[in-house]
Amino acid sequence: MDALVPPRRPPAIGRLLALPAARALVERHGRPLVVEALRAAAASFRAGEEAPILAAAEAWLDHHTRGPRRVLNLTGTVLHTNLGRAPLPEAALAAMAEAAGATDLEFDLEAGSRGERDAHCEALLCHLTGAEAALLVNNNAAAVLLLLRALAPRREVVVSRGELVEIGGAFRIPDIMREAGCRLREVGTTNRTHPRDYAEAIGPRTALLMKVHRSNYAIEGFTAEVAEAELAGIAHAQGLPMVVDLGSGSLHDLARWGLPREPTVREAIAAGADLVTFSGDKLLGGPQAGLVVGRADLVAKLRRHPLKRALRLDKTTIAALAAVLRLQADPDRLAERLPALRLLRRPQAEIAALAEQLRPALAAALEGQAVVSVEPCESQIGSGARPSDRLPSAALCLRPRRGLTAEALATALRRLPVPVIGRVARGAVLLDLRCLEDAEGFAAQLPLLAP
Ligand SMILES: *Cc1c(COP(=O)(O)O)cnc(C)c1O
Repeated sequence: MDALVPPRRPPAIGRLLALPAARALVERHGRPLVVEALRAAAASFRAGEEAPILAAAEAWLDHHTRGPRRVLNLTGTVLHTNLGRAPLPEAALAAMAEAAGATDLEFDLEAGSRGERDAHCEALLCHLTGAEAALLVNNNAAAVLLLLRALAPRREVVVSRGELVEIGGAFRIPDIMREAGCRLREVGTTNRTHPRDYAEAIGPRTALLMKVHRSNYAIEGFTAEVAEAELAGIAHAQGLPMVVDLGSGSLHDLARWGLPREPTVREAIAAGADLVTFSGDKLLGGPQAGLVVGRADLVAKLRRHPLKRALRLDKTTIAALAAVLRLQADPDRLAERLPALRLLRRPQAEIAALAEQLRPALAAALEGQAVVSVEPCESQIGSGARPSDRLPSAALCLRPRRGLTAEALATALRRLPVPVIGRVARGAVLLDLRCLEDAEGFAAQLPLLAP
């Protein structure tokens, strides 16, 4: 038997390492990683198959060591969570680079003594929202968690049943409440909650009233909800705080730029909210962060909580956030300077013209494999902002010819040097060009497309 079945023994790693192609990999990645990659690759080949082992090792290294790479988001969802949400402005990149080395992160240069890291953004946030104080954490989920832990341990938080949202991934209001160690007191029904529902739920164990912005869905028809000002009135009459989880947290009225209206942080503060939490990388257009603004005494309480230390922001993120807030403070020029807003308000005619300009090159690259046309489509803001509002846009539509599928076309696009991410719908690939700013880069790599 042994003589008939040759053992599938892989070649020795030492022999592979001596090959010129392996030496080139060692030059790039260092010896220990290349040894690990060769071991992983060699297991699936037998002696004599050296070229495929080296190719597999190179693919392994590429896959496991390169970190997040640049892609072209042509999904039509501008703030796409899986694709990193808001694209950062140049000003933020420069600020991150400046803060990368030693920096006055927690150092007061005037006094020469210890400073406060959130202070770099606090004055701007107060200016932009009308709040007394501000605090920064890692994301909005962390902001809500810290708020509940600091203000409502082992006590009740009153929330409308219509606002017990799941944001996607693992952020569900009831779960966060449990994790924070407080008790959720649901009031009202899915579609209707009235002032008396809140008032009747308040008791000796109540810590605060909470309103959650229904980010990713809409309730229509026979509905009723209690506005922030009225809810604040009910809470304050009982000496309780009212807090708002605003989610995308716009700092300006988007109607100013012809976009669907979103509630602003300033409005929530003006309506009487004691604390408002929101994300840094949604409509604010900055890095991933969670922001809490509101009453100084409550913010101070959150700042003193041990969890704040575990959720604090990194210096480069604070630098980027401060840069974006500086842009936000000049709304007249914001639409040109902030990529997220620039992309959101891009007119359909401009996007359609870009699609017409790129269509011939794409059609040539897919000659005989797909029919390429320009079609109107609808983009969405994403990250839970205004799910029912769509932004008119234009797409390159790739309809595969017989023998090829839309999925295969989408895969080929993802394999380009700068991966192109579109969406597959009704047997075609749609590339919504709203977020394509590097048209030349896109066109330059089309000849490499190989479905
Ligand atoms: C997006 C969102 C969150 C979660 O924010 P992250 O910054 O992604 O952690 C929480 N609440 C609401 C209402 C949201 O829209």
